[in-house]
Amino acid sequence: MNIHEYQAKALLRSYGAPVSDGRVVLRAEEAKTAAGQLDGPLWVVKAQIHAGGRGKGKFKEADAGDAGGVRLARSVEEAADEARRMLGRTLVTKQTGPAGKQVGRVYIEEGSGIERELYLALLVDRATSRISFVCSTEGGMDIEEVAASTPDRILSFSVDPATGYQPFHGRRIAFALGLEGAQVKQCVQLMDTLYRLFVEKDAEMIEINPLIVTDKGDLKCLDAKMGFDGNALYRHPDIAELRDTSEEDPKELEASKYDLNYIALDGEIGCMVNGAGLAMATMDIIKLYGAEPANFLDVGGGATREKVTEAFKIITSDPNVKGILVNIFGGIMRCDVIAEGVVAAVREVGLKVPLVVRLEGTNVEKGKEIIENSGLNVIAADDLADAARKIVKAVKG
Ligand code: GDP
Ligand code: MN
Repeated sequence: MNIHEYQAKALLRSYGAPVSDGRVVLRAEEAKTAAGQLDGPLWVVKAQIHAGGRGKGKFKEADAGDAGGVRLARSVEEAADEARRMLGRTLVTKQTGPAGKQVGRVYIEEGSGIERELYLALLVDRATSRISFVCSTEGGMDIEEVAASTPDRILSFSVDPATGYQPFHGRRIAFALGLEGAQVKQCVQLMDTLYRLFVEKDAEMIEINPLIVTDKGDLKCLDAKMGFDGNALYRHPDIAELRDTSEEDPKELEASKYDLNYIALDGEIGCMVNGAGLAMATMDIIKLYGAEPANFLDVGGGATREKVTEAFKIITSDPNVKGILVNIFGGIMRCDVIAEGVVAAVREVGLKVPLVVRLEGTNVEKGKEIIENSGLNVIAADDLADAARKIVKAVKG
């Protein structure tokens, strides 16, 4: 689960990490009061969306002008104007995709004078199963680009969980970043804080880009992105509370209510599959036959008829879906339960696109019978390749 920058900064502040004072604003009318509570002479107005690259982003609406989602202001009035310009508009950045994200909140912050912009991240390194620090002198820009063009400017190492964070880790980062004097001590302290926050809150990722050296020579977290392990949220109600469901795909949100493993994708073929491995294989074979999957969906082993019905409804609610492939290998899951769910869902919401069903395994005959007797216009398939070929043909002709 990801959180907004202003929430991440509040968390950093509560841990004693250096961040600027700021106010979150949800309605344009509140912007002037909020900015007025902060000290000038410089204010920064920042669109709060769960995506990076806001500074270089562009708003879709023509009346929002050419400027992006991070703006400096020289007065309270100017800050309020910028907030008004962003709220309710759709910001498109490198990370949002072409559809962009609607800005429902902006953060107004006391502006900092910047001497240097650095990059810092903590994440879980899956290769070593440890928490890793990643840092670079090339902050403020696209770290993927730095990694591609000048990988030698990135330092990355993991921390042994048996010892946890040690001051030498922080010094290693400080020297790699070219910090001097009091900054070294600040760095050792800040890394300790970030590591503690990461572990205590079950974070998956903390990215500070940029971490800056201010014009007064101090370290400060100027941007903050944080993601948390969804499976650990039950023990962090304070973090769970920060969830902003308006940032999530509505179909994924609906699926999570029914405990379905659903991930929305960009393609045209909706998939209903049981088992994560079979779901991956189904997506692969759809691509192999020249189409793209519209989603990943694993209905799981113990799915009920109701759950299957909801899953089918979520798939059909996606306007990009031009055809549906149901691919079930009944082991624990019974084919007749799937068939009943599909038939019930189609009766409820109708079927406007071709549907290919491939059933195999437990109660397969019963399942096929249910579908045949339903009178639905279903294309039956025998195996995975046959099913993929048929649905791609039905959609693409
Ligand atoms: P992002 O574009 O979504 O990554 O948003 P950031 O918070 O990283 O801001 C983008 C850029 O805006 C930073 O790299 C800075 O160059 C600039 N910026 C952000 N806050 C301030 C500030 O307080 N003072 C100054 N001078 N520049 C800032
Ligand atoms: Mn940034």
